[in-house]
Amino acid sequence: MQFDVQPSGGMVDAESRAASLAAPGFGRIFTDHMITARWREDSGWHDARLEPYAPLVMDPASAVLHYSQSAFEGLKAYRQPDGGVALFRPERNARRLADSCRRLALPELPVEDFVAACEMLTRTDVEWVPDTEGASLYLRPLIIADEVGLMVRPSASVRFLLIASPAGSYFSGPLRPISLWLTQEYVRAVPGGTGAAKCGGNYAASLVAQREAMDHGCDQVVFVDGVEHRWVDELAGSNICFVLDDGTLVTPELTGAILPGVTRDAILTLARDAGRKVEERRVDVDEWREGVRSGRITEVFACGTAAVITPIGTLKWAGGEVTAGDGSPGPVTTELRQALIDLQYGRADDPYGWRHPVG
Ligand SMILES: *Cc1c(COP(=O)(O)O)cnc(C)c1O
Repeated sequence: MQFDVQPSGGMVDAESRAASLAAPGFGRIFTDHMITARWREDSGWHDARLEPYAPLVMDPASAVLHYSQSAFEGLKAYRQPDGGVALFRPERNARRLADSCRRLALPELPVEDFVAACEMLTRTDVEWVPDTEGASLYLRPLIIADEVGLMVRPSASVRFLLIASPAGSYFSGPLRPISLWLTQEYVRAVPGGTGAAKCGGNYAASLVAQREAMDHGCDQVVFVDGVEHRWVDELAGSNICFVLDDGTLVTPELTGAILPGVTRDAILTLARDAGRKVEERRVDVDEWREGVRSGRITEVFACGTAAVITPIGTLKWAGGEVTAGDGSPGPVTTELRQALIDLQYGRADDPYGWRHPVG
């Protein structure tokens, strides 16, 4: 893809940008530019451009607005010790977006075009990459069906969009364990559904359960499988890991209903290479409850690009609760988190070639 470059005339001045970067929050403010490209059944991908960040003009009968034919991604650019910037495994996100697109009957964007778009936007808006500890530039690629008409069928017209947003830590404040609500009424995904695809519909389906979690005083909801209602799947937007008393790391195996996280994969690799035993298998919610009570499970944490690694303390359900740990992040959680962020922020060797410098 060749990008037509149209720099922004109305760029935010350095002073307001510095003010925004001082406390960016998550997903609230956006950089000066965005990337757009179009696809048509007859002509393929075309009309790629880097342009000023601006609202879209869309026909109200566009397919995505009605039938949710869309897929998205999330990855980050990290400030490096030498002042440069690196993306983390962008090809993984490119391939996952292609997988999501296949599931949603959307056209695939070639991996090299996805990566080139991420590089170009990051390079153009590099002043927006924070240099404060734990902060980063969050990139949000998106593919939406924009064929006009209410017929239900795969759209013959699609748009690719890429926007960027400076991000502080996803969960604000010091690293404290979060609490989870085990929903027994709602499921996020079922085998054969869209659980392994990163799509807005999955998030829409999770919101009522997330609200139920908050009504019960919990930070996030955790979902079990949609068939037997007993195997732990994941949170609405992050994967989950358990640490056993012998140091083993356990995470639910990818069943097709669980989103294959890039962070999940990185942590499993880092843990294995540090000599830790790693198990990908089904985890019964009773194993969690009883394991925490007996001491067999010593730590639980959530992982994802936005969440990084976040310790999980309390699991609450209708009728009871258990709390892993003593209210502070456990040693294995802390060790894996440090290894991951040292790699992302260029403070550790990168034997896997995961850092993707944006020159
Ligand atoms: C994005 C996402 C994750 C985490 O994936 P990462 O690649 O690690 O960011 C986990 N679960 C769901 C449902 C997600 O959408």
